[in-house]
Amino acid sequence: MEDLDYKKLGMKCGLEIHVQLSTKNKLFCSCLSRLVKEDNDRLLRIQRRLRTVAGELGEIDTAAIHESEKGKTFEYVSYPEESCLVELDEEIIHDVSPAALSAALQIARLLNCEIPDEIHFMRKLVIDGSNISGFQRTAIVGMNGFIDTDFGRVRIANVSLEEDSAQIVSRLGNKDVYGLDRLGMPLVEIGTEADIHSPEQARQAAEKIGGLLKLTGKVHSHLGAIRQDLNVSISGGARSEIKGVQSLSLIPKVIEEEVKRQLALVLAGKNVHKDVRRALPDGSTEFLRPLPGAARLYPETDHVPVAVTEEMLTEAKKTMKKATAEELSERCKISLELARQIINENKAVLFESLSENYDPSIVANILTSYLKEMKSEKIAVEKLTEERLKEFFSALNGRQPAKETMLRMLRELAMTALPAEKIASSIETLPDSDIRKIVEKIIKSNKDAIEKYNAANIIMGLVMKEVKGKAQGNKVMKIIQEEIKKTS
Ligand SMILES: [Zn+2]
Repeated sequence: MEDLDYKKLGMKCGLEIHVQLSTKNKLFCSCLSRLVKEDNDRLLRIQRRLRTVAGELGEIDTAAIHESEKGKTFEYVSYPEESCLVELDEEIIHDVSPAALSAALQIARLLNCEIPDEIHFMRKLVIDGSNISGFQRTAIVGMNGFIDTDFGRVRIANVSLEEDSAQIVSRLGNKDVYGLDRLGMPLVEIGTEADIHSPEQARQAAEKIGGLLKLTGKVHSHLGAIRQDLNVSISGGARSEIKGVQSLSLIPKVIEEEVKRQLALVLAGKNVHKDVRRALPDGSTEFLRPLPGAARLYPETDHVPVAVTEEMLTEAKKTMKKATAEELSERCKISLELARQIINENKAVLFESLSENYDPSIVANILTSYLKEMKSEKIAVEKLTEERLKEFFSALNGRQPAKETMLRMLRELAMTALPAEKIASSIETLPDSDIRKIVEKIIKSNKDAIEKYNAANIIMGLVMKEVKGKAQGNKVMKIIQEEIKKTS
């Protein structure tokens, strides 16, 4: 694979991240905000067709023309508890869900955004049938924020609260069938400026934003709950919007492929069109439709603007801080004190990311106390980048050496350029038979104490002292329990 010089090519990339909020109800009605897993007999099917009309300025959107030319029929499946007349566009929307609005404001705050004085809902033209009404409601809840990556700051252009679209069930001939369960579920959209200049920076920015979202404890985290779109362009090319990049690891590949695609067109002297494209699992993309113009937004007249009060802002700030430490502690099974420390030291995103591959309580200890200890030894801990630590934990592969061994390895990781794999493989692991011998010996020599107290824990402490990090805690515990059973 040839190496692309993204800087020289003038590559610019912006992210659009969509996340479902985990509120009980939908955004504009009290239907349950959840996906229906099985079909049942009580569902209602209705058919609709969509026609294009001119926007406020008398212009018809190019993307709308493109879709309407297909002449499709749409069928919608309605569910008893998950959709009502609001989803069917037969009833005026109700007031916006306070829980969803509050969560959206929290997210805007976490992304360092300015919050507008009033929230105005707008209608955004959506013409592929995924919205019965032909538009999606959206409101800006934050602007001009930022997040920092290792490669520089990425500005957040805006954070919006939106309603999710209906989910496609089947496409048969000229008929598309959509389920109404997802329509109207509260969604937050985060759009960055095109401040991203390398595939790796894009991945990192998406990962940081995703981490912050999870921290609120108010978003769904199942696969597909966070969806990423990429806007990519190079000098002489044009902005293309790539929809539906499902995983973080696919982001760099999709950017690389898109840059190559645009570069080939530019080199051949051809025009690059502003497209909406769909990401495919191998990182390549396919054409979906032309990029919609500015004519697709107009005001939502069925909902009055919502004034953002001081109270709402304080509430967003307060509940966020409280929820964050408690939620982090509960979800990752670490003490509340450690969770607070991590949040105060601004390491929450790093912690979340690292503990995906390793015992969260050890990761928490490393980030809060081990690194401090190393810093006091004048070791350049900043060399321990997220990437390097990630490699290290994944190379440890679940093994849990004792603190001293861990510190020795982390020092090596910071001071040398040795591959993490090599450093991790330097820990010896005792065979089970050796551990068992040590356990038997300790049980024998501490018989009296063991009978009186909580035996397993006492033996555990003594054994771990003796094996000095050459065995995994959970394995030792298992052997201890087996041996205790034998003696009793
Ligand atoms: Zn409803």
